[in-house]
Amino acid sequence: MAYKAVIGLEFHCEMKSHTKVFSRAINGFSKKPNQLVSPLDMGFPGTLPVLNKECVKKAIEIAMILNCKIPEYMEFDRKNYFYPDLPKGYQITQFFNPVGVNGSVKIEVNGKEKEVLIHDIHLEEDAASLDHLYDTSNIDYNRSGVPLLELVTEPCLNSAEEAFEFLEHMKRIYQYTGISDCDTKKGQIRADVNVSIMDENDTELGTKVETKNVNSFDSIRKTIEYEIERQSKLKSEGRYDEVVQETRRWDDESGTTIHMRSKADAIDYKYFTEPNIPRYKISKELLDDIRKNIPELAHERKEKYITEYGMSEYDAKVLVKDKKVSDFFEECVSLGSDPKSTCNWITTKILAEINKKEDTTIEDIFIKPYMISELISLIDSKKITNNQGKEVFAKMLEEELTPGEIVKKYNMEVIEDENLINDLVNEVINENNQAVTDYKNGRTNMLDYLVGQVMKKSKGKANPVEAKEKLLETIK
Ligand code: ADP
Ligand code: MG
Repeated sequence: MAYKAVIGLEFHCEMKSHTKVFSRAINGFSKKPNQLVSPLDMGFPGTLPVLNKECVKKAIEIAMILNCKIPEYMEFDRKNYFYPDLPKGYQITQFFNPVGVNGSVKIEVNGKEKEVLIHDIHLEEDAASLDHLYDTSNIDYNRSGVPLLELVTEPCLNSAEEAFEFLEHMKRIYQYTGISDCDTKKGQIRADVNVSIMDENDTELGTKVETKNVNSFDSIRKTIEYEIERQSKLKSEGRYDEVVQETRRWDDESGTTIHMRSKADAIDYKYFTEPNIPRYKISKELLDDIRKNIPELAHERKEKYITEYGMSEYDAKVLVKDKKVSDFFEECVSLGSDPKSTCNWITTKILAEINKKEDTTIEDIFIKPYMISELISLIDSKKITNNQGKEVFAKMLEEELTPGEIVKKYNMEVIEDENLINDLVNEVINENNQAVTDYKNGRTNMLDYLVGQVMKKSKGKANPVEAKEKLLETIK
């Protein structure tokens, strides 16, 4: 029997900013440990945190986009616990008065709209990281104090797919606002995944099981699927009492979740207001300034592509999925290229090229927006044919030359000299008497054959439409 699944996510995302959230160390990615550190990040006594306004603004921006209630003051709290990656013995976070509460966001799952309720969103600092080696562990403070946004949903998601789509939606919001790259490879995202199951008409939620620190969208999806199956099996066997409130972890190798600790071991964090950061008034001016500068988001661009550019829903979705691709498209259009032709080149040719190699983005390939615009205008002005355009595209990648350079190098420009085309047409007619007779006797497809012959003679440089017209004129 199938049960109803209930899922709530705690989604952590490392923010981009110039410096860390409470210190002046650079917030960046370094392969070398302990390069981006200040005494505060190492928990030295006597150091004091200074709140980073850039992070505050970005956190408020996300709270606004998620339709949250924003408090009057920015305030922080201490979450006290011991762990080697937390040298001061507490994390500065927001507990009593987070930057956003009671929000909601609409997402699309399988063509249907779903509203996801946001319990809260809060700004906090990341901990350092530990590298566990064979017989020792190293500590790296680069991550200590990196700004983190934690988004907590209500238990309102009902499948792995809904959770996945929600995370994809959030990732696009973070990327379009420039708040985070959400780069899994750099460990920029992780989620605590809470799953329970219940009978369809139960009024109370089932026992929730938390899987901590799952660090890719794919693993989050698998965690949910696994937990639903594990809990459902126990319930259907009458062993639901074995589903207990506990914390588990995802093990990628076995594709299962594994018990870490039970609720009885739950830590009491003894939260209290962080005394070293004075509360910070969120003024109306600040709010207005932030609201005014919210950029166009993925779903807004998608709407624009459909209504203003007449694009299909599918194409629009493909274009906005990755902000870099959408930016590439926007730049071509701003250079005057026709949106539909641009979309075509991107979705059929460029994305295919990017997908050939792993870890390749639209920024890594040689072709730039101005080149696609140039290519389109060469075709639109009939300097080259559509087919030649495809050839030019391939050669651009192979030889790293611009469309103009390729056309010149291979002498590809369409023959515009009418006499020359007339000559070619006459030659083809004289050399293909049988085909001409057949055509006149009703075998209309022979015309395409004759056009093909003209194209061949011109080495692809004749305009096929023109060749067809001339053939028709001459034959009749
Ligand atoms: P805790 O007190 O254990 O931290 P919370 O009620 O604060 O639990 O919720 C933490 C997360 O767990 C939230 O994302 C919430 O949506 C989710 N959650 C709460 N109850 C359930 C449940 N019965 N099933 C699934 N997720 C749940
Ligand atoms: Mg947290």
